[in-house]
Amino acid sequence: MSHDPNCLFCKIVDRRIPAKLVHSDEMTIAFEDINPQAPTHILIIPNKHISDIQSMKEGDRELIGHLFFVARNLAGTRGLDKGGYRLVINNGRDAGQAIFHIHLHLLSGRAFAWPPG
Ligand code: AMP
Ligand code: ZN
Repeated sequence: MSHDPNCLFCKIVDRRIPAKLVHSDEMTIAFEDINPQAPTHILIIPNKHISDIQSMKEGDRELIGHLFFVARNLAGTRGLDKGGYRLVINNGRDAGQAIFHIHLHLLSGRAFAWPPG
């Protein structure tokens, strides 16, 4: 498992920083965003430290795909698929990425504007 000792989300993976976990498995964890932007705002992250999309390796295909299946399953069990939900990855500075450990935002419970800001 690849960990960055200075990475906030690696510390959450290691349970060294608390988070409201809503899912965990051998490849991923999911937890509530500390500053929610919608009634449901969950972050789904790989346990492995991957800083951004450009840093993904060919061997990460299954792992990255798994993030989307976790999102789909959480949305299904919570009934979020009825009204819909938005999945977001902010990649890099101009996109507003603040934490450089890949994370998929699962947002739901209100209508979202398009185009995004
Ligand atoms: P991004 O801007 O895409 O990098 O998103 C980072 C997200 O992490 C933001 O939505 C923050 O609110 C969230 N965040 C930062 N620190 C924590 C934390 N300790 N626990 C849960 N979410 C966090
Ligand atoms: Zn990390």
